[in-house]
Amino acid sequence: MHKDIDRILFGEDELRTAVAEVGKRISADYAGKNPLLVGILKGSVVFMADLMRAVDCGCSIDFMVAKSYGNAAVSSGNVKILKDLDTDITGRDVIIVEDILDTARTLTAVKNYLLSKSPASVKICALLDKVTAEKAGDAKADYKCFDVGNEFVVGYGLDYAERYRELPYIGVLRHEVYSK
Ligand code: 5GP
Ligand code: MG
Repeated sequence: MHKDIDRILFGEDELRTAVAEVGKRISADYAGKNPLLVGILKGSVVFMADLMRAVDCGCSIDFMVAKSYGNAAVSSGNVKILKDLDTDITGRDVIIVEDILDTARTLTAVKNYLLSKSPASVKICALLDKVTAEKAGDAKADYKCFDVGNEFVVGYGLDYAERYRELPYIGVLRHEVYSK
């Protein structure tokens, strides 16, 4: 285990099993639909790489970089798209792939933005859901792997100051690391 990690929440085997399960559900729900998986950079990359291989109904992928401002629940005007989709999503079934749903501010804004592009549907697939967090937006995870409490987690794509994304497990970062 990395010296900056206090404890491991989800190890490699648990992650593999949970991602396979979500992949199976998506494959069944989207049979014959060729869904577009939209990863929100950068936190979603490791999850996306595993999830797309667990989806066997056929899918396409794309990525976005987005920053939200103010009350994302109100309109799609509060999100700044720093990298937009390359794909035309008119009539497409879109699944947003995100590392962690915390206040849901970002994802609510992204979802509203995507809904304004006339897709057939937009759903959310989150690796983690911070169930105890105060929600600023109404976006919910349609698919998720795990619930987490109010702790700062890293690994499997999630970072602290651009570090720890490469860890193959999800762990709680030691307090000393962000207080120094
Ligand atoms: P939201 O708009 O839902 O509040 O923001 C979610 C984003 O905040 C995530 O995509 C992630 O970048 C960041 N975030 C929230 N909680 C955590 C956490 O525990 N660990 C890490 N590494 N990022 C987090
Ligand atoms: Mg993120």
